[in-house]
Amino acid sequence: MPTLNETHNPQLTSWLTSANSGRSDFPIQNLPFACFRKHGSADELRGGVAIGDQIVDLKALSQAGLLSGLAQAGVEAAAESSLNNFMSLGNETWSAVRAALSALLKAGASEEEAVRACLLPQADAEYGMPCQVGDYTDFYSSVYHASSVGALFRPDNPLLPNYKWVPIAYHGRASSIGVSGQSFPRPQGQLKAPDASVPSLGLSKRLDYELEMGIFIGSGNALGTTIGIDQAEDHVFGLCLFNDWSARDIQAWEYQPLGPFLAKNFASTISPWIVTVEALAPFRGSFSHPAEDPQPLPYLSSEQNSSEGSFDINLACLLQTEGMREAGQDATPLSQSSFTHSYWTVAQMVTHHTVNGCNLNPGDLLGTGTQSGPNHEEAGSLLELSRGGKEAITLPNGEKRTFLEDGDTVVMHGYCSREGAVRIGFGEAVGTVLPART
Ligand code: MN
Repeated sequence: MPTLNETHNPQLTSWLTSANSGRSDFPIQNLPFACFRKHGSADELRGGVAIGDQIVDLKALSQAGLLSGLAQAGVEAAAESSLNNFMSLGNETWSAVRAALSALLKAGASEEEAVRACLLPQADAEYGMPCQVGDYTDFYSSVYHASSVGALFRPDNPLLPNYKWVPIAYHGRASSIGVSGQSFPRPQGQLKAPDASVPSLGLSKRLDYELEMGIFIGSGNALGTTIGIDQAEDHVFGLCLFNDWSARDIQAWEYQPLGPFLAKNFASTISPWIVTVEALAPFRGSFSHPAEDPQPLPYLSSEQNSSEGSFDINLACLLQTEGMREAGQDATPLSQSSFTHSYWTVAQMVTHHTVNGCNLNPGDLLGTGTQSGPNHEEAGSLLELSRGGKEAITLPNGEKRTFLEDGDTVVMHGYCSREGAVRIGFGEAVGTVLPART
């Protein structure tokens, strides 16, 4: 597990002043990875690292002759059009690249002029998927989300008996995952109202978002092997924001007995930037289940996981309707939550995923599940905020929402802030619902 080092030093500043504002998501202590190109160009995507309002072009940096050894090998891999090869190299290489970038970008670095030549303003960039996601799995790690959704779908039996023992997940679909800026047409599917005798094909009227974190696997494991709880984070490259769009009416009719299918696989949106586990080191916290709950089985438990297995990440979800956009109004906050409420840690999700010998590959994506908190206003979906569609939310401009309407844009933010550390952020994951294809 990565520990604190000079790259986390809160005194560090960059020669790039926009990184030092205290409000940027991307100070020198963060250094997240994405794949980008100049907006509107036909360039191939390449890896980049965010600093302030700029991107360090890793392809340019790999050719600048400033680095050597593991850091140079890592930057060469990260300069490719997807980060899979870089992810596969493992945390020693990721850490060497981070240390080298920190040294090149810090105030007073003699390489400033050469590194400036490798910068592109974020305002001039467009982003692609950071890697090819071979497999995507979605967990269900908020007990608050599981309980309130369970109560809506199964009033007599909200939380199933396995929930507090096993990190529940389903295998999702990778092909429809897109990067921030994604838009998609309202899906149709089989719908059956509770009082209808038969289902019919129709447009989803209960379209929703899910406020989640995404976990990118770095180095994988061979088929038939397992990843122990204290090794699990060595296999995690980093975290991003993740919106798992969901059609609740399709879900309600199809989800039993095998779980979500077409209710979830029409679109999912990630933030372009992946914040590494190493960057998150100052924001770790202890982890435990309530004393009255079942304690994790031994393979899901360790002193390390208990003492510092959680990440303190603040999450927020905002909505901008088409009407707001036309009136020039910013997105309005819908809810805020925290990843500290997760019932399972990142390490537990990775370990559980492989306990049967399932192999994970570089670039695989794990969704954490909707990160709702204990209070109603911390709900990570409209299904919960509108209490199953029964209570409309009134927006500042007077519009009302129970579920998403055509033209709605959902914006997700995340950041870490703690005394003695420099605030780091995840950027944003933005997605828009388009009218159905006719
Ligand atoms: Mn989900």
